[in-house]
Amino acid sequence: MGITEVTVIVSEGAKPYRVLLYYKYVPIENPEEFAAQHLAFCKELGLKGRILVAPEGINGTVSGTVEQTDRYIEEMRKDSRFADMVFKIDDADKPAFKKMFVRPKKELVTFRLEEDIDPNQLTGKHLTPKEFYEAMQQDDVVILDGRNDYEYDIGHFRNAIRPEVKSFREFPKWIRENMSQYKDKKILTYCTGGIRCEKLSGFLLREGFKDVSQLEGGIVTYGKDPEVKGQLFDGKCYVFDERISVPVNQVEDVIVGRCHHCGKPEDRYINCANDLCHLQHICCEECEEKHQGFCSEECLSQLVQS
Ligand SMILES: [Zn+2]
Ligand SMILES: [Zn+2]
Repeated sequence: MGITEVTVIVSEGAKPYRVLLYYKYVPIENPEEFAAQHLAFCKELGLKGRILVAPEGINGTVSGTVEQTDRYIEEMRKDSRFADMVFKIDDADKPAFKKMFVRPKKELVTFRLEEDIDPNQLTGKHLTPKEFYEAMQQDDVVILDGRNDYEYDIGHFRNAIRPEVKSFREFPKWIRENMSQYKDKKILTYCTGGIRCEKLSGFLLREGFKDVSQLEGGIVTYGKDPEVKGQLFDGKCYVFDERISVPVNQVEDVIVGRCHHCGKPEDRYINCANDLCHLQHICCEECEEKHQGFCSEECLSQLVQS
């Protein structure tokens, strides 16, 4: 029996696995060396997931049994750099990843600014879920989604601006071209777990926006808050693991996505069955069957040819 195989005993109603989401902007010397050691450590614990390590900090999503994830948190806390790191914990029926990766990177979120932003020096005001919920209902606020367009498309805060960006590095240009009329307004930004907003809100301040706030802990924390219960978030929250999306709003169930083929309300993403395309698109069950999982006639015809 390998070290990664464990017996899972679950009490009724509880789920056997957990997904941890966390980040911390803190200097890490020798990210390459740290990554190699951390990978060995994660494998020893039997975790699966994806962790990025950069000179500016760490960002990870890992999944494992309750016992494995508890041990991970416990061990991480022993390191003074991560002693106060916030772990967002989701229960899950199965692991959310197939493999374990720990990658050294230049930046935690790829922003590629001419001049980098250190969120420990410059970042927007942090709002708790309740403060964010209340701020969203004030007059004259601008809610900016700090994620990519395809994340916005299956779920977002009501009345939030949809940035036309496919990756985070497109934000600076998009903001300069589309947001300048809002420099004197109160800006509220949010993202999945909070890490992107730390930089995005800092960038907005540096660009001359006067009043910038960010949702602390992101959408995933907001959805768990016992008081706000995910209210005013419509649709589901896109996540970068095998779950693809998670529920947020516990009070209202609104579907905001639209099937790529027939346009009916839907919030499930699938990848195009053509390996050379692999386009992630929203697709209803009937259309998946009808189009055999392909995003277009073109992709379907390539199957016929081969
Ligand atoms: Zn459809
Ligand atoms: Zn395709």
